[in-house]
Amino acid sequence: MKLGILGNGQLGQMLETSIADQSDITVNLYDLRAFDETSLQQFLNDNDRISYETENIPAHIVSQMESVEEKVFPSLKALKTFQNRITEKNALRAAGIDTAEFHAVNSLADIHDAVQKLGLPIIMKTTTEGYDGKGQFVLREPSDATAAWAEIGNRELIAEAFVPFIREVSVIGCRAENGDIKVWPMTENIHHEGILRYSLYPAHGFSAEKQAIAERYIEQIATSLDYVGTITLELFETEDNLIANEVAPRVHNSGHWSIEGAVTSQFRNHMLAVTGQAITDTASKFAAVAMINVISDEGPTAAGEDMSETYVHSYGKEARPARKLGHVTITAANTDERDSKISQLEGLIPTGVWTK
Ligand code: ATP
Ligand code: MG
Repeated sequence: MKLGILGNGQLGQMLETSIADQSDITVNLYDLRAFDETSLQQFLNDNDRISYETENIPAHIVSQMESVEEKVFPSLKALKTFQNRITEKNALRAAGIDTAEFHAVNSLADIHDAVQKLGLPIIMKTTTEGYDGKGQFVLREPSDATAAWAEIGNRELIAEAFVPFIREVSVIGCRAENGDIKVWPMTENIHHEGILRYSLYPAHGFSAEKQAIAERYIEQIATSLDYVGTITLELFETEDNLIANEVAPRVHNSGHWSIEGAVTSQFRNHMLAVTGQAITDTASKFAAVAMINVISDEGPTAAGEDMSETYVHSYGKEARPARKLGHVTITAANTDERDSKISQLEGLIPTGVWTK
């Protein structure tokens, strides 16, 4: 089978690598930045099935994908739903999943309506194309409305009530064509300036009740869309609940630990699912795991070279401010051992963001 993946960044590359042992599957990556209509159509026609590494696919490309709709996995319906924060939240709610209260904003006047409805503070976001916290504005006072509209407005926005969360966690699952669903153990995710810096498994003190809520959420959203492939839910943990923030219809940075840390990685199960195969065990192989992003002008190659059970992934990208250049995964026999290894790699994490 020939599988085409739209996007040739690190996610596409890790997807390709994860299935390299299956010689009957040929993986082709399409560079979306080098798009032209003819080469894309050729790519869509030449491959037996199509998947994608990102939901940030421009509308004109999505409409071209419609010509081969039946061979796109996850489905175009899922892709379109999760491309827009409003249709995304509506789908989550329809599937019985809690989200922040929200209000669609198409004008300055709508911002004032949102303040009436949601109170303050409010997080304003562009409905499409946001990533790493880009395209967002925190409204603290009604008088911030004009600045918010000037900075990110003049396009469709969503206003979200601020969720007073304890911390951020994510749950990643995979659904096969036969409806089988497998869910990876959850991680706690620590962000800095809108970018994921590191993920920890297990999430300290995370209750079995909350784990069950997260697994139910994944099952409900994946089943409701007849979803095929790996799917990620970013969640806010509150005192007694989990509130869905957003969905990624793809593998996710917070699941990179699963390459070395789990029996089957998020990448491999995605590839198995989108090629119509059965998916396999998602359990963790270790008592404790950490994934640290390498985001700096220094390459990741030196990091942790002489530490045992430390795996360095370099994406081979040129350094640019705030760009993810690679990641390091640490496996350990317990959380204390994990945390002492993280402390040795502290240089990868901004000052004050690693608190152990
Ligand atoms: P990424 O692609 O990196 O996940 P994004 O640009 O898609 O980011 P979000 O995940 O929606 O943006 O938001 C970025 C961060 O802003 C969240 O991880 C969270 O820390 C904060 N945030 C977003 N929405 C809310 C909310 N409603 N209440 C409180 N905090 C929020
Ligand atoms: Mg997010």
